[in-house]
Amino acid sequence: MDQASIDALRTAAVPMQMHIINGQSVPASDGQQMEVLSPLNGQRLTMVAKGTKADMDAAIAAARAAFEDRRWAGQPPAARKKVLLRWADLVEAHALELAVLGVRDNGTEIGMALKAEPGSAAATIRYYAEAIDKNYGEIAPTQEGFLGLIHKEPVGVVGAIIPWNFPLMIGAWKLAPALAMGNSVVLKPAETASLSLMRLVELAHEAGLPAGVLNAVTGEGPVVGEAMALSMDVDVLVFTGSGATGRRLLTYAAQSNLKRVYLELGGKSPNIVFADAPDLAEAAKVTAFGIFRNAGQVCVAGSRLLVEASIHDDFVAEVARIAEAMKVGDPLDLSTAIGAVNSDSQLRQNLQFVRAAVDEGGTLASGGSQLLQGTGGYFMAPTIVTGVAPKATLAQKEVFGPVLAVTSFEDEADAVRLANDSIYGLAGGVWTSNLSRAHRMIGAVRTGVMHVNTYGGPDMTVPLGGVGQSGNGHDKSLHALDKYTNLKTAWIKL
Ligand code: ADP
Repeated sequence: MDQASIDALRTAAVPMQMHIINGQSVPASDGQQMEVLSPLNGQRLTMVAKGTKADMDAAIAAARAAFEDRRWAGQPPAARKKVLLRWADLVEAHALELAVLGVRDNGTEIGMALKAEPGSAAATIRYYAEAIDKNYGEIAPTQEGFLGLIHKEPVGVVGAIIPWNFPLMIGAWKLAPALAMGNSVVLKPAETASLSLMRLVELAHEAGLPAGVLNAVTGEGPVVGEAMALSMDVDVLVFTGSGATGRRLLTYAAQSNLKRVYLELGGKSPNIVFADAPDLAEAAKVTAFGIFRNAGQVCVAGSRLLVEASIHDDFVAEVARIAEAMKVGDPLDLSTAIGAVNSDSQLRQNLQFVRAAVDEGGTLASGGSQLLQGTGGYFMAPTIVTGVAPKATLAQKEVFGPVLAVTSFEDEADAVRLANDSIYGLAGGVWTSNLSRAHRMIGAVRTGVMHVNTYGGPDMTVPLGGVGQSGNGHDKSLHALDKYTNLKTAWIKL
């Protein structure tokens, strides 16, 4: 991808975005719109429909009608597969347009956005398309004279609430397996990153997805998201976002129809570096990239660096050297390593975390400030705080910004104790050349994903999900299909 093609799109006019309900673009029922500010310069990018409860109810009704008449679930598996494969092809064909639009909306550096957004979305859609005609029911090993069949059925209407950090990637992680199983879906993009996801929904229709099967309503979480979560007609709710919203969704499910709720929440993932790591220079580079890319707005970011005391000073100095060389700035420049923070409020919150960390006894080893204020955009220097006490705010709370908390440890048992001193359990990393230690750490650290001598990048073939307050359920891999599936037993006397 060359810079000239990106630049050709950087100021393209972005039309006002409406909801997509029953295959049609429709405005909010009361005509209201909301402003979309670009994190690149703080300027208005476009307007989107500001959805109402009535809009969400209409989208859910459209999804229900599409499910009941089996216009999608009733198609032969090979036909559904063809539609999803066409969709993946269209995403690939529009990759640059989708990536640039998404970056102007959410601030991710374009190099990463191209891979992680349209690139990943196309791969995800293709993966689940291919699974459609390979997903069998089961015959139970029953006693003679009986036949036990286990059918896999779609759940009905799936509600999906998507965050702003990787809208296409995370959106596709939910949409593709839900649609592959034959469900209908209602989507609620995040307020500050809806544009590329809405374009993804348009492309699904271009690929031949029947109207009503995939609907999308833009607007505020506490209005349209809440209406979705409180609906009596949504069967499964899938969510990626903050713990606070996740808690609300569970309450809404309890207050309504007991819909199944799957939550992918935050993390405070420990990246644990032993002195016997095979390549400390590589470990330092991956450590920096593992927390600072996308301005730290990555749910699995290695935001806690636990480093063996004997190498602490040299290792931190190397991570700081790499961080300071990472170019922060225009996310549409291919040479940028760290783009914009998504919103002004997120940037203020990041800076507040840094101040609190220093107040609580941490030492600012690098960064700590806002950058490029003259641009009007939301930029922050990659930040490293050392000497973070295990119970300090920065060790315990998720920042969701480019802030690395460093704590040193004495031995393996100490590392495990520190790693597990968290309400979260999403991801972790361990750097060692001792094979036995690597396996011991995989077993001992309570997370859904452990990396060994690398950090980040597992592909579609493995599940992603957390334990503890990082959530429940899994995206990616064939296991993700379970969320969108009801098992039905047929018990037959022969
Ligand atoms: P963040 O604080 O990082 O923006 P949120 O959890 O608030 O994370 O946002 C993730 C998604 O949840 C967004 O799409 C947002 O609109 C939605 N959301 C926020 N509040 C609610 C709510 N009360 N009910 C349903 N969805 C919500």
